[in-house]
Amino acid sequence: MPMSPAFENRIAGRLRHIADHFGTPFHLYDEQGIRDTGEQLKQVFANVAGFREYFAVKALPNPHILRILRNLGFGFDCSSIAELVLSRSIGAQADDIMFTSNNTSAEEFTAALGDGGCLLNLDDISLIDKLPCVTETICFRYNPGERRVGNSIIGNPLEAKYGITHEQVIPAYQRMQRLGVKQFGLHSMIVSNERDYRSMVETAQMLLEWAEALNHKLGIRLSFINIGGGLGIPYRPDDTPLNVKVLGNDICRLMQMFQRRMGYAPALHMESGRFITGPHGVLVTRAINHKHTYRHYIGVDASMSALMRPAMYGAYHHITVYGKSRPADQTVDIVGSLCENNDKFAVQRLLPQIDEGDLLLIHDTGAHGHAMGFNYNGRLRPQELLLCADGRVERIRRAETLDDYFSTLQCTVDTLSPPIVQEVNQ
Ligand SMILES: *Cc1c(COP(=O)(O)O)cnc(C)c1O
Repeated sequence: MPMSPAFENRIAGRLRHIADHFGTPFHLYDEQGIRDTGEQLKQVFANVAGFREYFAVKALPNPHILRILRNLGFGFDCSSIAELVLSRSIGAQADDIMFTSNNTSAEEFTAALGDGGCLLNLDDISLIDKLPCVTETICFRYNPGERRVGNSIIGNPLEAKYGITHEQVIPAYQRMQRLGVKQFGLHSMIVSNERDYRSMVETAQMLLEWAEALNHKLGIRLSFINIGGGLGIPYRPDDTPLNVKVLGNDICRLMQMFQRRMGYAPALHMESGRFITGPHGVLVTRAINHKHTYRHYIGVDASMSALMRPAMYGAYHHITVYGKSRPADQTVDIVGSLCENNDKFAVQRLLPQIDEGDLLLIHDTGAHGHAMGFNYNGRLRPQELLLCADGRVERIRRAETLDDYFSTLQCTVDTLSPPIVQEVNQ
């Protein structure tokens, strides 16, 4: 089931006012829904000592949303300097931040370790020599290769660019031990948008096996394991939701067994993005054109600059027509205005009759929605609104303007007449 009935109820009878006041298109996020899901996740893992969710900032990088999540006690998973700056701007610091970059630059290391630092998640052993200083805690991202199968978004682990190999794990921790690091974590993310809880349980199991091996071989007691993000949500009405309750129970049991066997247990970290905010956002866009050619097209006032997932992954986003209870009897393509034929929010979708001026709700845009938008073809990204828990609606990001789009053209003139130098082949 896409967007929750509670969210639907909260905007029922009010959306037209919101659209008239703020103008379309916009992403609208539901504070109450985000809070409820956050509380649910905490509840599910309440019996796991040291459980903490590190929200994947890339899913919805807006400080107003991050503040809500911080109030829930969540930390933040960052993978760029911008995400670090954003998380710190709302008060997150040190252990509140996990930095999981890949192909990391010197500049990124400096940003991650400066300004109060963070939990650093290293993507490769070659990066050990590039660390600007020895940190208190280090974590490695583990890629199990052929030992596990991934899924379609994230791909087969053998082909994924992330993480260190099975054989590299012991040498990696050994080197960090020699460098004087005292606290360690271990991270892995194998799947994306996965609704089968068993794959996350397997990841926890796999990491706990490593925790035991690291203890036996190197005497390390891992401070935490991090099972990554990738908890899936039902985008299609007939998708079965992830059973988080069983997920929590099973992982809790694994952690308790480890505790009994080993006399200690690492904390459990997770870095979900989509599961926390995905279902609590909708893209509201207005139908502005009708076109009957070889197909029936409905043109809307948003483009893929507002939501890339359908074009990028062929992802399904449920669409409803606001305030209409007509039968779904028309097969249409819902399109934006970008000069790319994949600028479609829906392809050959059965929907009720749509008139110009109707408001369309594109569901589940609360994660990897606005954030993924781009400016190709001069298409600007829309505003973001928050439906606050008290019923007010707040603009939490304005729409981009042409001035924003052209701003990088304003730069200091720098001209070089490069001399021709013979390159020496070595
Ligand atoms: C993108 C990402 C996440 C979040 O993924 P979701 O599918 O939103 O849960 C978590 N961790 C890492 C390292 C990521 O790259």
